Amino acid sequence: MTGSKLKELISSVDYLVAGAGVAGLRAAIQLADHGEVLVITKESLGESNTHYAQGGIAVAAAEDREDVSLHLDDTIFAGDGLVFLPAADALVSEGPARVSELIEWGTRFDSAAGRLLRTREGAHSRPRILHANGDATGAEISRSLVAYAHAHPRIKFAEWTMVTRLLVAEGRVIGAELASAKGDDNESKYRKQISARAVLIASGGAGQVYSDTTNPEVATGDGLALALEAGAELADMEFYQFHPTAFSLAGAPRFLLSEALRGEGAYLRNDRGERFMERYHTLLELAPRDVVARAITREGLGEGGETRTVYLDMRHVKSVDLHQRFPGISRFLEGYSLELARDLIPARPAAHYLMGGIRTDLTGRTTVRGLYAAGEVACTGVHGANRLASNSLLEGLVFGARAAQAMVDDHLPLLQAESLLPVCLALDAGDAARVADHVHALRCAMWADGGLLRSASTLESGLRAQAECETGLAHIAQQGKRSRCLFEAQSMARVARAILCSALAREESRGAHFRSDYPHRDDESFQKHSSYSEGKAVTFESW
Ligand SMILES: Cc1cc2nc3c(=O)[nH]c(=O)nc-3n(C[C@H](O)[C@H](O)[C@H](O)COP(=O)(O)OP(=O)(O)OC[C@H]3O[C@@H](n4cnc5c(N)ncnc54)[C@H](O)[C@@H]3O)c2cc1C
Repeated sequence: MTGSKLKELISSVDYLVAGAGVAGLRAAIQLADHGEVLVITKESLGESNTHYAQGGIAVAAAEDREDVSLHLDDTIFAGDGLVFLPAADALVSEGPARVSELIEWGTRFDSAAGRLLRTREGAHSRPRILHANGDATGAEISRSLVAYAHAHPRIKFAEWTMVTRLLVAEGRVIGAELASAKGDDNESKYRKQISARAVLIASGGAGQVYSDTTNPEVATGDGLALALEAGAELADMEFYQFHPTAFSLAGAPRFLLSEALRGEGAYLRNDRGERFMERYHTLLELAPRDVVARAITREGLGEGGETRTVYLDMRHVKSVDLHQRFPGISRFLEGYSLELARDLIPARPAAHYLMGGIRTDLTGRTTVRGLYAAGEVACTGVHGANRLASNSLLEGLVFGARAAQAMVDDHLPLLQAESLLPVCLALDAGDAARVADHVHALRCAMWADGGLLRSASTLESGLRAQAECETGLAHIAQQGKRSRCLFEAQSMARVARAILCSALAREESRGAHFRSDYPHRDDESFQKHSSYSEGKAVTFESW
């Protein structure tokens, strides 16, 4: 049913999966052994954070018990005192089996002489990152999972379709409302309700909330907003990881310059040519991401507040063929007449990965019955305050599988919710432009006020901008109009509020969350996870 028309979609299914990234696909494959599965994806199957993952997947070799334990240590260290140990333990100990399975299902990782090649990335004590086609690991994982899932007769796909609401009845989620995500056909007027025994949100991250992001346009945080609306709790929303090195040239996209570049020996230099990481951390360029990102931000600010360029420098690296090892990055740079082996490459941080998300237990169960979450949209506490590089593809596999098991084990009955909803009005051009303006203002405010360096005054200013955006969007929505851009804008506004409120409540600096008014880590008050629900104050809990 790939690309199926909304009206022709079945009206009930055993398992509904929102998202076709690594987490949703891994879950769907397992669920299909127990019932009919419908996988919904906002655009085509390849358009996900998973597809764009470059560096690789962090995993110890199955036979190397010592490295499983070191991987755990590295994950805990990166998470800055807030990693939920049982989650990290599940990640590193179940990871090798999940990756072997992935290889059996057709993923081809780079190898030489019959052995998988492993590289090292920031804050990893050993080279344990598997990669595919050099720097196109996510695309290879996505390709193989999509092909494997397609071959299963009980998995159907609905592309260019979005979940716009979760249906809640009898204290549980019983299905979802769907709408076409294509703005340019007649179908966009229709909505449809579909019932399911269990709904998995695997809708990925929310990078689009920030003006500078490595995430594709589908990453608007819809799943987080849907869960909030259904009454679920979010956790640790203040922890947004900013990747230190996205390409930085006016007018060019914020293309990711993978951590693996530094893993292969790249230096960071300021515009005076100094290798400045010596001043910030003993691990130099391979220090945890938040440390590197803040160092670049500081080096990129001149004394008079002017912007100064920071560069990645690989000109001295002779141990690898840079074109062969990084074909995708090399191709991208060629478009700007730059070469890794010859040129300094301008780079600065961009919003990259959300450590927080829909609060789940270790099996993907959220705080609302019938609703499960896995992958980047979920928060198991596995990353604590800062994700270790390349742990998230593994997270999608491990917790996608665990959530699928819980959905099956819970044996929830199917409650009917089927109907084709009334035709709704589309936005006119003026409304669409107003939505775009609100979103632009929100994303800029999030970058300036809720980004890498925060304080009470910036966060309060961000909240004022968020409130203005929310009010403007509500005014348009009140007229009974619907569209993809309005739905996404409202999702982003909701997620922005969760980030800002959680960041304001955490009066300390830890991991990816840095408060210039509280620059130190405060374990006594804040070695706890934040919890955010709509209409309530942020609270902190030990897990
Ligand atoms: C440029 C880049 C490079 C990265 N490199 C690495 C790396 O090297 N290693 C690593 O481990 N991690 C990396 N990451 C992070 C990693 O890719 C993601 O965290 C991970 O792939 C998320 O997988 P997921 O399944 O949770 O979500 P995603 O892969 O983001 O999939 C989300 C899915 O949800 C769908 N969706 C969204 N909203 C809706 C809606 N309303 N209705 C229906 N469907 C919806 C989307 O269409 C998509 O199919 C990188 C991320 C980026 C952006």
